[in-house]
Amino acid sequence: MEKKFASHADVEEKRISFDKLSDRAYAYTAEGDPNTGIVVGDDAVMVIDTQATPVMARDVIRRIREVTDKPIRYVVLSHYHAVRVLGASAYEPEQVIASRDTYDLIVERGEHDMRSEIERFPRLFRAVESVPGLTWPTMVFDKRLTLWLGSLQVELMQLGRGHTKGDTVVWLPQQKILVSGDLVEFGATPYAGDAYFQDWPATLDNLAALQPVALVPGRGDALTTLQLVRDGLAGTKAFISELYANVKAGAAAGKNLNAIYKDTHAALKPKYGQWVIYDHCMPFDVTRAYDLATQYPDPRIWTAERDIAMWKALEG
Ligand SMILES: [Zn+2]
Repeated sequence: MEKKFASHADVEEKRISFDKLSDRAYAYTAEGDPNTGIVVGDDAVMVIDTQATPVMARDVIRRIREVTDKPIRYVVLSHYHAVRVLGASAYEPEQVIASRDTYDLIVERGEHDMRSEIERFPRLFRAVESVPGLTWPTMVFDKRLTLWLGSLQVELMQLGRGHTKGDTVVWLPQQKILVSGDLVEFGATPYAGDAYFQDWPATLDNLAALQPVALVPGRGDALTTLQLVRDGLAGTKAFISELYANVKAGAAAGKNLNAIYKDTHAALKPKYGQWVIYDHCMPFDVTRAYDLATQYPDPRIWTAERDIAMWKALEG
């Protein structure tokens, strides 16, 4: 039977967890659906990635209100993807903060990305009619920004390209806690349709060099021990490296994208096929890797139309 487009067959709701990493940090996770990180300062709360819609974000706010009544002043966008940013308005933040590279991507492709992502994965956009439009940063930084939420130091850092060119991590140096966005996944397949495969492994080494004791990945459970942090970083790095090596070898051998896709899907399946959204991500990931290995240094814009054409070509 033909595979349904992207994640149209994925309709089962996930169980949500709200884990305390320290007195300053919490993780809102949902069995492989996009996560939200929460930082509690002396006088304000910061939310990292918002959920896909304001209605979904309200459940994050409900959880935050169970642990603190401090105002939610800051929303940080780890990158531009719709599924992470379109719920921002629900928090009524004073500032929406993003890297300049993320801002540039929103300008360039935010509208296309919003339409494409909503079409790909309807379950992840519950009450999509509550989205007021694109989420625009109110504060943009280059490479690094330091905030003090009272006595709590918070570092927003770009440590290299990977999942996108704008990837931002949030680091609490006093606590050694890291919120990674989609640079790190755990038990979930990394989406790499907008990725820089050649840079991603080194960027993960930069994250590891911080020596976090706990890490909130983009998808999957919060990593609350040194071993789990190591596993999350290593697993993501292995997947990205192996996928790109496979695709590069196929392209060098003169194979076409369709053949490379089938080879790579089969080659990685024994090791990674049990990760959530494997079948969803692989066509996008292999297409981007093939583009990078052949003629496109930067990711081409995904539109709703291009998504369908690609899916038909590889899965139809
Ligand atoms: Zn993403």
